[in-house]
Amino acid sequence: RGVEVVHGRFFDTVTARVPGRADAVVAAAREAGINLGPVDADHVRIACDEVTTPETLADVLGAFGVTDTGPVTTATTADSGVGALPDGLARTSEYLTHQVFHTYHSETAMLRYLRGLADSDYALDRGMIPLGSCTMKLNATTEMEAVTWPEFAGVHPFAPSADAEGYRVLIDQLSSWLAEVTGYDSVSLQPNAGSQGELAGLLAIRAYHRANGQPERDVCLIPSSAHGTNAASAVLAGMRVVVVACTDNGDVDLDDLRAKVDKHRDTLSAIMVTYPSTHGVYETGITELAEIVHAGGGQVYVDGANLNALLGLAKPGEFGGDVSHLNLHKTFCIPHGGGGPGVGPVAARAHLAPYLPNHPMEPSAGPETGVGPISEAPFGSASILPISWAYVRMMGAAGLTDATQVAVLAANYVAARLAPHFPVLYTGRDGLVAHECILDLRGLTKETGVTVDDVAKRLIDYGFHAPTMSFPVAGTLMMEPTESEDLAELDRFCDAMIAIRREIDEVAAGTWDVERSPLRGAPHTAEQLTGDWDLPYDRRTAVYPGRTRPKGKYFAPVRRIEGAYGDRNLVCSCPPVSSYES
Ligand SMILES: *Cc1c(COP(=O)(O)O)cnc(C)c1O
Repeated sequence: RGVEVVHGRFFDTVTARVPGRADAVVAAAREAGINLGPVDADHVRIACDEVTTPETLADVLGAFGVTDTGPVTTATTADSGVGALPDGLARTSEYLTHQVFHTYHSETAMLRYLRGLADSDYALDRGMIPLGSCTMKLNATTEMEAVTWPEFAGVHPFAPSADAEGYRVLIDQLSSWLAEVTGYDSVSLQPNAGSQGELAGLLAIRAYHRANGQPERDVCLIPSSAHGTNAASAVLAGMRVVVVACTDNGDVDLDDLRAKVDKHRDTLSAIMVTYPSTHGVYETGITELAEIVHAGGGQVYVDGANLNALLGLAKPGEFGGDVSHLNLHKTFCIPHGGGGPGVGPVAARAHLAPYLPNHPMEPSAGPETGVGPISEAPFGSASILPISWAYVRMMGAAGLTDATQVAVLAANYVAARLAPHFPVLYTGRDGLVAHECILDLRGLTKETGVTVDDVAKRLIDYGFHAPTMSFPVAGTLMMEPTESEDLAELDRFCDAMIAIRREIDEVAAGTWDVERSPLRGAPHTAEQLTGDWDLPYDRRTAVYPGRTRPKGKYFAPVRRIEGAYGDRNLVCSCPPVSSYES
């Protein structure tokens, strides 16, 4: 129709050549309420999807000045699609053949299918998820509601900024609040995860050293207690990892730190230190640690994933940090689990701010001197920022401080109630923990054979999600109750743990052989109850232990699986081949 398409083969996006007319075409499309993709002065990009209507296509053609099209119909669009894909790429085999795609055809059936999935799951709407390090706190309905509004959900990441002014207000306000609570000067919301924030922060440090004429500074010190992402990010950023030892009480060993800083004085780039530490303790040596590294010419990366123990009480930017990431999907209420979505803002002091992420397609998304994009969209997972915005706005400064204090109080309550039954591995000054605590089961495991897996799985029978196992110390369990659990739920949890300790004692006393104990048998399923029963404990002990009652009982849908095997082997859970037999 007189407009040249630059490629013969395409999928959902076509680029048209309109010499000297690109701006006019884009402007005409905007008049019709359509955003086309400007490429340069001579090219315009058009992307369609499955909800693009013939009317929209007619408007697009109009913007190009093509008027003699006759009515655009789905038939013409289907025809014009023929041959757009290279022959070899057109799929001829069947797809989406799994029965799940062909079973739920009415809304009623779909609703019940989703309900069935939810029933198999243990989520926060059922009870506490004490996963240490994960901060499984309330994701309030009010916080999440705006995510469903088309004004947020329907905006394309590359929409012209004039069409996203509300987003910009929200992004600017949230950034400035995060800067204020962390004591940093500048915040980038671009990273999609804590680990991406780490990479962004380390790239900023590298760029800073380069700008100072010291590109050889590439050693990243990481304490042995660190989260696994720290070392991975350092390697991704092209750094060499040097591990710093911890003392017996779990703190970073400052003598070892001094020695390592000395040894790598000429090549020291940074330290990555988590505060409070992944051992769940406020390390009193943190400012001294920062001074030692700074004196050695290094920068201090404070992993801020544990901000739920700090917010309103202390600011990493003020106790020695040069740069940090935060996890909005932990402390700031974005729901998480199963791998996303997340936001891991990176926050930096002024000297590193010029090296935060930016974006080639959105100049306002970062500093001109930035290190480039760390994720595809200029503002990362912007559509879930309303959750964190609402959380901060509704809590206010006093509320955030309160939340931190209650979270720390709850962790200390759990630690104090459980300490007589399971040793608490690390405590800080005055025998207190921060927002989480590690219970050491290694002694009990040695004596009785009962493992952390047994305790974690048995907690499911008692109506709880398992805590974090063997992280950051193998053979231990890490609990983080958060401020969201009330005293009754904390007590229900502690009672369950104490009851489990009594069960371990029964194993120790020889009442049950560990292999045939309710601990090793956990979790017990409903199906199991109706089958043969030759276990040395009764069915009631199996499924209604302690204070568990039939009403509201959570039944695990499956018995224990071999986690390590599953992690290493891809196992297809599709229907067996025989079920396809006609
Ligand atoms: C969760 C966590 C991270 C990583 O965050 P992701 O969003 O999972 O990438 C890093 N450090 C610590 C201490 C954490 O708890």
